[in-house]
Amino acid sequence: MSISAAVRLLQSAGLKATPQRLLVLDALRQLSHPDVDAIFRHAVAHHAGLSLATVYHVLEKFEQAGLIVQLEFNGRRYYDIRRDAHDHVRCRRCGRLDDVNRDPRTHLVFTPGSAWVVESQSLLWEGVCPDCQASTMSREADTP
Ligand SMILES: [Zn+2]
Repeated sequence: MSISAAVRLLQSAGLKATPQRLLVLDALRQLSHPDVDAIFRHAVAHHAGLSLATVYHVLEKFEQAGLIVQLEFNGRRYYDIRRDAHDHVRCRRCGRLDDVNRDPRTHLVFTPGSAWVVESQSLLWEGVCPDCQASTMSREADTP
């Protein structure tokens, strides 16, 4: 994404494009479902003076503006810039999160009764990511 496209995205969400916001936006686009620490590490590498408090503040603004959603798995929070309905797959070794597209043919139907107001729905798949599979294979190859 070019800088001008990032500026336009922020403006369309009603936000001024400050250098700090552009850095956090870049981290959200480059990293797959980062947590706040990963966003901070990515952003601070480009702007040494950035504080963790600023990153939290920017994330809050982005969330209020509807640019990102928070995900919570195993008590940890992650940020997702993709806002259309989708699910996730999580690596049980390294914790990496990837997107899973929904297939309307296998869509689940919610019918527990009328007392519920359903606001969101998500499905978590779990497994071993390609990187962890590769490192297991190379470890096994090293073993005499
Ligand atoms: Zn996602």
